[in-house]
Amino acid sequence: MTHSDFSGIGMTSQRTRDRMVSRLKEQGIQDQRVLSVMREVPRHCFVEEALASRAYEDTALPIGHGQTISQPYIVARMTEVLLQTQPMQQVLEVGTGSGYQAAILSRLVRHLQSVERIMALSDQARYRFRQLKLRNIRLRHSDGGMGMPDYAPYDGIIVTAAPEGIPHALVKQLRPGGVIIMPIGDSEEQILIRVTRTEEGYEKEFLERVSFVPLLGGVT
Ligand code: SAH
Repeated sequence: MTHSDFSGIGMTSQRTRDRMVSRLKEQGIQDQRVLSVMREVPRHCFVEEALASRAYEDTALPIGHGQTISQPYIVARMTEVLLQTQPMQQVLEVGTGSGYQAAILSRLVRHLQSVERIMALSDQARYRFRQLKLRNIRLRHSDGGMGMPDYAPYDGIIVTAAPEGIPHALVKQLRPGGVIIMPIGDSEEQILIRVTRTEEGYEKEFLERVSFVPLLGGVT
């Protein structure tokens, strides 16, 4: 995709994006910071051209390699919950995928590390961030199931693929008071949870039912 593609479609889709944001409000998203960033970031730039016209529907879409870009409501919800606690200086995302969730986060947190196990997706996301001039995202092609200790401790971690249980390595990489927003469960049933690191261990809250691709090991 060339630079002119971004600006061209970007202009014409502002109204579609405004409608998406109205829908997010109806669905209960209240954080104005999240709504305003979602009004700006061109979601259609994160899917292949053949799907661009569907980019603002409230649905997950395929991004190749058996993976999906999360539906707008889920991106908004996870971001809103992440921002509810302390200021987010250092944030980790596990599962870059298309890069859309990372692009939203990058406008709302100071530094974002994002890790993806599929090289082709990671390369594509890197190209998109460069085109959109998002400069506070550091990408890594690696298995992020154990987190990314190099930049720990984190104020927040977002996991966009579902493990069956809470990965303790991730909890260890949080600062006290830090939070992980993540789905857990199997292909039948998953639930979005917030894990908060405490002095002694962690607390866990259930947020809502969700459906994500599984967190897998290794790189490809
Ligand atoms: N945040 C993405 C969602 C993509 S779907 C978006 O906005 O588009 C989840 C992604 O997690 C997939 O790209 C998948 O390859 C990746 N993933 C799964 N297990 C992983 C792991 N252990 N480490 C890093 N990435 C992983």
